[in-house]
Amino acid sequence: MSKKIICPSCGGEYEEHLVRCPYCGTATLNAEENEYMGKLEDVRKDLEDYSGEGEKQVKSKVGKTIIIVILVMIIIATAILGSICLDWLGRQRDKNNRKDEFLNNQGITTSMLEETYYEM
Ligand SMILES: [Zn+2]
Repeated sequence: MSKKIICPSCGGEYEEHLVRCPYCGTATLNAEENEYMGKLEDVRKDLEDYSGEGEKQVKSKVGKTIIIVILVMIIIATAILGSICLDWLGRQRDKNNRKDEFLNNQGITTSMLEETYYEM
C-alpha cells in the first residue's frame, strides 16, 4: 500500500511515488529524490548487466583459448609420437638392411639362406 502525502502548495492528497502533485504540479522533494535514486538504481543495474555480459564473454574467450591450447598440445603430442614411431621403424629397417648387407658381404643372400633351408 503506497503512502499518501498532502501537497504543501494546494493541500491535495496524492501518492508518495508521484514526482509532482497531480493537482497543481508542485514537485515534491521526497518524490524527486526517489526518482533520482530510481534512475541511479537503473544505471547501476545497467552497469551490472553490462559487466555480467563482459564477464561471460571473457569466460567464453578463456574457454576457447583452453580448447585451442589442448588441441595444439594433442597435435604436438601426436607429432612427437609419430616421429618416435617413424624413427623406430627407420631403425628397424636400417637393422634389416645392415643384416642383408652383412650377408651380401659374406656372399650369402637371404634367398640363398631360404634355399639352403628348403634343401636340408
Ligand atoms: Zn498540489
